[in-house]
Amino acid sequence: MSWELVSGLETHVELSTKTKIFCGCTTKFGGEPNTNCCPICIGLPGTLPKLNRQVVHYAIMAGLATHCTINNISKMDRKNYVYPDLPKAYQISQYDKPLCEHGYIQLSNGRKIGITRIHIEEDAGKLVHEHGDTYVDYNRGGVPLIEIVSEPDIRSIAEAREYVEKLQMIMKHIGVSDCKMQEGSLRCDVNISVRPQGSEEFGTRTEIKNMNSFTNMEKAMAYEYDRQIDLLESGGKVTQETLRWNPDEGITTPMRGKEDAHDYRYFREPDLVTIYTTDQEIEAIRQELPELPDARIARYQEEFGLPAADAQLLVKYRKIAEYFEAASEGLSNKKTVANFILGQIFRTLVTDEEKENGAVAIPPEYLHDLAKLLEDGKIKMNLAKTTLDKMLETKKPCTDFISEQDMGDIDEDTLRSICQSVVEQNPKAVADFKGGKDKAVKALIGQVMKQTRGKADGRKAEALMVEMMNAMD
Ligand code: ADP
Ligand code: MG
Ligand code: ZN
Repeated sequence: MSWELVSGLETHVELSTKTKIFCGCTTKFGGEPNTNCCPICIGLPGTLPKLNRQVVHYAIMAGLATHCTINNISKMDRKNYVYPDLPKAYQISQYDKPLCEHGYIQLSNGRKIGITRIHIEEDAGKLVHEHGDTYVDYNRGGVPLIEIVSEPDIRSIAEAREYVEKLQMIMKHIGVSDCKMQEGSLRCDVNISVRPQGSEEFGTRTEIKNMNSFTNMEKAMAYEYDRQIDLLESGGKVTQETLRWNPDEGITTPMRGKEDAHDYRYFREPDLVTIYTTDQEIEAIRQELPELPDARIARYQEEFGLPAADAQLLVKYRKIAEYFEAASEGLSNKKTVANFILGQIFRTLVTDEEKENGAVAIPPEYLHDLAKLLEDGKIKMNLAKTTLDKMLETKKPCTDFISEQDMGDIDEDTLRSICQSVVEQNPKAVADFKGGKDKAVKALIGQVMKQTRGKADGRKAEALMVEMMNAMD
């Protein structure tokens, strides 16, 4: 029998607010354990939470960017469970009135993965296992999160990966989170089940907690898919349970039986008021949203004639997209600018982080000026390329490397006399050419380019020199 994979993801994204969700402590990552804490976020009795307005703002942005409906009335609830990383023994979250619902993310194959809901909640602290002991660090406790719950619409591991990548790109683009999987500011719980191909009914799912890298997510899903199929094919049943992925052994192991909502004893958080949001406020936030990645990619393709892969690569990093737009403003050949960025400039931005930060050595105006000279036919591509490398190395504008003389056109006579002298000074290449080695002319063209600093028209120089050499005995 052939089996179909069914998956839905719960993605936690830490919001980029300066302070925590219910107190004024900083959300900064790192820091000595338990130094970014106060009586509120470690849950001392008698303290009262106060909702950070920016959290609601960011969550609405996230909802709008993923086509959700924003609920005008929303509220916070207590989710009760006992675990050492949760000092109050409850997490303030949202249960039956989340802020955002009914959205989707569209994949490159055209399929829409439904988003059931996006709600806001507080992060828990972190358990650190060291020297055979377990320590608790509450710095992360109270950091604001949104949880984005997808419908069980995902049908392959590749779709799961693309869904998370798109989510990450959108959230980074609108600036609500840095979505760093390795720092835990984006974490996924993967729900997975299998069913016979063609069946309408869903199978029993398991949930793999806290995937913190794409590689682990893909491996864990592949393992779990195979495990469930083996189980079913040998007459067994899948138990609904929560699993942990063990990356060292490459297996999933049970963490605990699956809780149902009633196990959490959800009830309304009595210390916080209802969250009211008017349509006008929602509209104002919609207006504030930057152009979304999909729209930007489409525009680069349609208006600028960029290939899809290039457009995607530029838009993957918002600051690079902005750099590209600034550098190519007013130019007609945007594609050349894109090529400079994706080629020579990307070679200088080695890590993802450097691209993320848009840490290009020269400001976009410098690239613009260079591309303009090229567009106006004042310099040739060869010279532009070597100049760009020098600019990136020295952080200087192109005028430091290109003289007035470089920009003037080489007239026919000058080119002819340069070609003449190159032919005269390279008897060996000439002999090779005349002996039938057509390639020898390439070396001669190289000489002409060197002497003209890349300004000469290569094809014209070639024609001239071939003519000269053919005329020699
Ligand atoms: P809980 O909050 O207990 O984890 P939810 O009903 O909110 O449960 O669902 C959590 C996630 O599980 C959702 O992303 C949903 O799409 C996914 N899911 C639900 N049923 C299945 C299934 N049969 N197979 C795979 N994923 C599923
Ligand atoms: Mg869950
Ligand atoms: Zn605090």
